[in-house]
Amino acid sequence: MKVLRTKQEVSAWADEQHKNGLKVGLVPTMGYLHEGHLSLMRIARKNSDAVIVSIFVNPTQFGPNEDFEKYPRDEERDLALCEAEGVAAVFAPNPQEMYCGDSSVVLQENKLSKVMCGISRPIHFSGVLTVVNKLFNISRADVAVFGQKDAQQLAIIRRMVRDLDMPIKLIGAPIVRESDNLAMSSRNTYLSAEDRAAALNISKTLLALQAEWPCNASWTTEQVKQRITEGIEGGSNGYVKLEYIAIVDADKLEERDASASLTSNTLVAIAAQVGKTRLIDNVLVG
Ligand code: AMP
Repeated sequence: MKVLRTKQEVSAWADEQHKNGLKVGLVPTMGYLHEGHLSLMRIARKNSDAVIVSIFVNPTQFGPNEDFEKYPRDEERDLALCEAEGVAAVFAPNPQEMYCGDSSVVLQENKLSKVMCGISRPIHFSGVLTVVNKLFNISRADVAVFGQKDAQQLAIIRRMVRDLDMPIKLIGAPIVRESDNLAMSSRNTYLSAEDRAAALNISKTLLALQAEWPCNASWTTEQVKQRITEGIEGGSNGYVKLEYIAIVDADKLEERDASASLTSNTLVAIAAQVGKTRLIDNVLVG
């Protein structure tokens, strides 16, 4: 497995793959890898010939009071995990290499990024789109895999690829959960034992909702929101504080009508504060 530090090395590597008739599959990550990331690599391997994983904690997607500095990092362990998954190359640049020191062009999405996480994280998705677009260009990827864990991110990247006619195939991968059903996340390492016990109310509530869905499709969005609040905030005696509950079309992220019963392709997503940690989770229903 090659470990590449510069954009030039990556592009030369990708050109070489293409020259040999191989399809390049990209898995962008911020490192501190877990089973969720590894599942993306396995999907990329099935859908391409040479997989490249990027490991880059992208400064431009963190707000001023967010956790950029303390975001967990362990490159040595990450590289060993990538190697064991049969990854062909890892791109692990530093911010100077990525952004040339004085970059002044960004990508901006103006609709899907204004709701849900975009409300409390106004610059986040512009940072994500900019870095993802750069990674697409640098890696010349034919295929890229993203997790449904970040459902809003996936919807916005799909929109970018559609609206800018980017020549790449996107694949969405299902959420991988811990044995207790907590959605895997590099940020779970921040959780204390007390936080974690309280956080389990999130997946418990959302997965119960999803399991009961065929018989509860006549519920209104208001009823579903009430049930989620009771399950998550009530279930944790107020320890978990919901930032939002979104019941939206999974592609357009438009709110389902409050009184209408819920139709197919509906994304039920939440963000919540658990102690000092902000977590997101979601289920698809219908
Ligand atoms: P991150 O390193 O958190 O930026 O995530 C990199 C990629 O892994 C993104 O496409 C995420 O959606 C995906 N991912 C993170 N956690 C999970 C998970 N639990 N299951 C599936 N994909 C995930």
